[in-house]
Amino acid sequence: MSIKKTILITGGAGYIGRCTAHVLANNGYHPVLVDNFSTGRRAMVGELTCFDLDLADRKLTLDAFRKSPGIVGVIHFAAKALVGESVEKPYEYLRNNVLSTLNVAEASTAAKACLVHSSSCAVYGIPKELPICESTPRVPVSPYGAAKAMAEDVIAQFVRHKGLKALNLRYFNPAGSLGNAQYGELHDPETHLIPNVVSAFLGGKPIRIFGDDYPTPDGTCVRDYIHIEDLVAAHVAALETLAAPGGTGVESLNIGAGKGVSVHDVLETAATVLGGNIPHEMAPRRPGDPPELVADIRQAKSILRWEPKKSLSDMIRDHHAWITGRAKNLL
Ligand code: UDP
Repeated sequence: MSIKKTILITGGAGYIGRCTAHVLANNGYHPVLVDNFSTGRRAMVGELTCFDLDLADRKLTLDAFRKSPGIVGVIHFAAKALVGESVEKPYEYLRNNVLSTLNVAEASTAAKACLVHSSSCAVYGIPKELPICESTPRVPVSPYGAAKAMAEDVIAQFVRHKGLKALNLRYFNPAGSLGNAQYGELHDPETHLIPNVVSAFLGGKPIRIFGDDYPTPDGTCVRDYIHIEDLVAAHVAALETLAAPGGTGVESLNIGAGKGVSVHDVLETAATVLGGNIPHEMAPRRPGDPPELVADIRQAKSILRWEPKKSLSDMIRDHHAWITGRAKNLL
């Protein structure tokens, strides 16, 4: 019998963490989760092993790694992740996100495991050029983005001086569900566009369009939405790339679909896919929203041998299937 490779997933009870654990388990890995359940859901853990601890605690983090022998890889998702909230609570965001990354980088190094870090396009702030390449200067405008940039820098020290193999994946806008709509996004409060559009369609509050006077083709903000299945596939590819002999030659990769979509585009596509009106109203700009964020994904495609396959329609359809299905039993 072959021994399954253990992958430790921090933030494993959250949206992207639990989706990744599901796919890894289906690909013959042994996922072990870590979560402090500040936003992750106990009901999402299911049959998997999960350590309930705060990664900002160095000793608890090292202990959890020691109790999981044979870890070959770590995916570090655990983080506070709301840009707006980070502006209100910079101390909490910097302490939690940077300190946890410091401890996870140290523990990964000690375990001789490679590390995939969930970073964000928020590190770029308001970019001067589009699409955004990895060499675009990091000028974060929110404490959330700043903490992600600092976390990248923390990891870089362990790569340079301690031989850690690591990759930062800078996500754009993940959406949708996977595993036949068994795993998906369920935040409270929900701030993201696609879940809020689906909720408005289902009779929730009308969607508020945050500004239509941006310097974009239709005046609403443009984002690069990526299906969760494609995002998770990039993590599996990153683990495999790091495990292969030789280096990757890069520290960070953009992970998006490589396509810009406006808030109006999302509403229009949702109306077609869901077959009905999306109640909406105009609202003022949301503080901290850059007008346009679109990824250049050429590096990720070539280094990870990966390609996004799913469409915006798939994201909306799959989120709808999850939220009207399994998610109802988790609330
Ligand atoms: N947005 C909106 N109404 C909402 C939620 C989001 O108009 O209820 C807009 C938001 O201003 C941004 C885009 O949709 O331009 C994507 O926002 P989201 O919060 O999903 O992701 P972000 O890009 O902020 O990480």
